[in-house]
Amino acid sequence: MVPFQKAMNCDMKKGQFEWFQNGKINASVNCIDRHVEVDPERIALIWEKDEPGTEEKITYRSLFQMTNQIANLLRRHNVKKGDVVALYMPVSPLAVASMLACSRIGAIHNVIFAGFSADAIATRVQDCNAVVLITADEGVRGGKTIPLKQTVDKALGRCPSVKNVFVMRRTGAEVPMATNHFYFQDLMEQEKSECAPESMQSEDSLFLLYTSGSTGKPKGLVHSTGGYLTYAGFTHKTAFNYQVGDIFGCVADIGWVTGHTYVVYGPLLNGGASVLFESTPTYPDPGRYWETVERLKISQFYGAPTAIRLLLRYEESFVNKYDRSSLQTLGSVGEPINVEAWEWFNDLVGEGRCDLVDTWWQSETGGICLTPRPSEEEAEILPGKPMRPMFGIEPTLFDEKGNVLTGKGDLNGSLCLKTPWPGMARTIFGDHERYVNTYFKPYPGYFFTGDGGHRDPKGYWQITGRMDDVINVTGHRLGTAEVEDVLDEHHDVAEAAVVGFPHPIKGEGVYAYVVLKEHVDTEREVMLGQLREMVKKGISGFAVPDHIQFCSGLPKTRSGKIMRRILRQVAANNQDNLGDISTLADPGVVDEIVKNHEELQQSNWEKS
Ligand code: AMP
Repeated sequence: MVPFQKAMNCDMKKGQFEWFQNGKINASVNCIDRHVEVDPERIALIWEKDEPGTEEKITYRSLFQMTNQIANLLRRHNVKKGDVVALYMPVSPLAVASMLACSRIGAIHNVIFAGFSADAIATRVQDCNAVVLITADEGVRGGKTIPLKQTVDKALGRCPSVKNVFVMRRTGAEVPMATNHFYFQDLMEQEKSECAPESMQSEDSLFLLYTSGSTGKPKGLVHSTGGYLTYAGFTHKTAFNYQVGDIFGCVADIGWVTGHTYVVYGPLLNGGASVLFESTPTYPDPGRYWETVERLKISQFYGAPTAIRLLLRYEESFVNKYDRSSLQTLGSVGEPINVEAWEWFNDLVGEGRCDLVDTWWQSETGGICLTPRPSEEEAEILPGKPMRPMFGIEPTLFDEKGNVLTGKGDLNGSLCLKTPWPGMARTIFGDHERYVNTYFKPYPGYFFTGDGGHRDPKGYWQITGRMDDVINVTGHRLGTAEVEDVLDEHHDVAEAAVVGFPHPIKGEGVYAYVVLKEHVDTEREVMLGQLREMVKKGISGFAVPDHIQFCSGLPKTRSGKIMRRILRQVAANNQDNLGDISTLADPGVVDEIVKNHEELQQSNWEKS
């Protein structure tokens, strides 16, 4: 037995963390084998496929078989402990089994959201040197097919580390296959359904997940095995009051951290039944979520505010016509949930009888850090606030001068976490210095979340938004620098600056200010189309700017720094509230961008 003091060795100044030192663990054994031993026929996954009514249920026994077959297949293709395996797959049992198969043999999975472009795949695969890529012929969402293999093929030329590609048949569409491309299910069938698990150290990496930061290069956050799993299982159970037998419906994609922690690891660690939602909130109509709740008898429904804001625009009958009596807890994640959306979710969907938990956390934290539950039974839950820290989390606010904000008033500041917790990301893949500089240097001794926080006089917490150049579009984190880098690549673009603006459904929209080189005579409409296409190709559809304004210059200080505050205010229609612009090198630029913005609004209004 290792004494507890030694089991945790953390240094918030250096950004070094070890939990459960010398502990040995295997993630797949904890998520599957333990439950197979006691109840092999229990449902582990319910694959809610795109077409309503075509769900497939997977028992722990069959998840065990799939996972072991994939693990054997990976081993046969020379995947070793510590190797990275990239996944670009639809939400599906095979994707979950692939993640667990990696963990079974000690490989590190890197799930890339299957909506990212070929360029985005290539950047991520190159950064982590993945040796295998697992994908599907096509994805299916909202009645449409998505050419996943075709997108992967466009990336592979730039991914020399990838030795083999496995292709899951999802639709059965014909796709070109090179000599090192194999149909996944065909090879799996030839493998044994038992594979000895690798004994892993608690601190061995379980997975990498890329997320946007304030530079153009996404960060490959690295999560540990023992600490992450402890936190995933514990927070899943306590924040949602999950009990065995409940059907847990988290509708996030496995390509995001919410999918990792609350679709895959949390529910499976707790021996739960987890829904894998492949569709969209409006397919075939805006009642889809609630029809699914009725059909699958979902107990906990965990979704994103952007979807709620979209759905509340439709008639209430899309909710009311379905039986939602199975629901006990509702959850919200990814961005602040406004009071109107919270009330609709709570009062209409939950009939005012469910707990609605607004949960705040990040890819970096591994699991929920602020949430109204657990708490004393019947403790109040206020609309639109994550309210209370999870066990072991000590939120702290700092003012602009770097002082801790104390006292009981209404306080706003930079949100930091004071004490380490087991689920925190351990490093940025290949760049520990960036990890330390980003999270531990701004407020020495504390983890800096990048978010602004608010604490009210009762001590309840609320998030006020990002403090860095990261925006949150439909619950997806996007670095404005990533979009700028793509726009800058256009041969006619001299300079671009991208900011977020409040958007009624998406939370934030993308607004790009573009300065063209001199003597560019390409028609503006053509140029707009080209720029939008470049962003779609370079990142993903969700990153495409809602508005692009062409201007002759950007507001800059005399030292050449772009004053983004001004750009944000203009984009948010706050042009009467620009603050001090006297420090600008050329204050005249501001009049121009305000005028352009008004014209842009006018023409958008006329088009709509
Ligand atoms: P990601 O790492 O992609 O999950 O994004 C994490 C970021 O989303 C956080 O830093 C917040 O800015 C935002 N976020 C997540 N959950 C919430 C929430 N409940 N309330 C407000 N913002 C949230």
